[in-house]
Amino acid sequence: MSTAADRGLAFVPGERLAPLVRLRMIGVFGGTFDPVHLGHLRPALELTEALGLDRVAWIPCRQPPHRGQPVASPEQRLRMLQAAVEGVPGFHTDQRELRRQGPSYMVDTLESLRQELVREPLCLLLGMDAFLGLSGWHEWRRILDLAHIVVAERPGWERPQRGALAGLVAERVTERVEDLRARPAGRILFRAVTRLEISATEIRTRVAAGHSARFLVPERVREIIEQENIYSAAGIPADRQGEN
Ligand code: ATP
Repeated sequence: MSTAADRGLAFVPGERLAPLVRLRMIGVFGGTFDPVHLGHLRPALELTEALGLDRVAWIPCRQPPHRGQPVASPEQRLRMLQAAVEGVPGFHTDQRELRRQGPSYMVDTLESLRQELVREPLCLLLGMDAFLGLSGWHEWRRILDLAHIVVAERPGWERPQRGALAGLVAERVTERVEDLRARPAGRILFRAVTRLEISATEIRTRVAAGHSARFLVPERVREIIEQENIYSAAGIPADRQGEN
C-alpha cells in the first residue's frame, strides 16, 4: 500500500487510522451573504450529499478582505443566513468571523476551527470564481495545510489553466471522496453541481430597482429583505447608493 510520503504528500499523523475510525467530515462555507441566495444553498446541499458531509458551518464574514463593505449590516446578514439554513439537517451558522475584529481572513478562520477539530477532515467549499482568486488570499498557501478545498463548478468559470494555482491543482487534485476522508486536509476536488446563475449583486440591484427577490432566495429571506427594506434604494444609505 502506498503511503502519503510515496504519493508526495506531507505525512499526516493518524492517516492510517482513517479506514478503522470513521471521523466526521465537516464542510465550511464562507461568504459575504449579502444576501444568501439559492445559488449558495443548492450547490452547498449537493456537495454535502455528494461528499457525505456530517455538517456544514456557514460563516458570514465581518469585513471582506477583497471588496467594499456589505450593504446589509452584519446582524441582518446573519439573520438572513440563520433563516435560510434553519431546519436543513447538518447546516448551521458560525459567528466566529463576525466576532473577530479586522479583515476576515479564511486562513484565520480555518486555524481556529482546526483547534476544535484536531483530525477531522475539513472541506472548504468554494464556487469556482472564489477558487480562481485563491492566490490573492492572505497566506493562501497555508489553506491546504488546514483544510481540503472542494470547488463547485460555477457557470462561466473554467478551472485554472496556468500559474501557481494551476500548479497546485495538478499536484493536489483528486476525483475520489475517499481521499478527502483519509486525511484532515491537503486535497482539491472539483464537483459539478446544478448551475444556478444567481449572484447577490444581481439581487441587490433588482431590489434597489423596486423588483422582488422571490425565487432567488428562500421565502423567509425575501420576507426579511422586504420587511427591513434592506436593499431598496431607501434602505441603502445615500453614500452607498449606486454601489450595486
Ligand atoms: P456578490 O455578488 O455580492 O459578489 P456572491 O453571490 O458571489 O456575492 P458571496 O457571498 O460573495 O456571493 O459568495 C460566497 C461563496 O459562494 C463563494 O465561494 C462563491 O464562489 C459562491 N457562490 C456564490 N454564488 C454562487 C453560484 N451561483 N453558484 C455557485 N457558487 C456560488
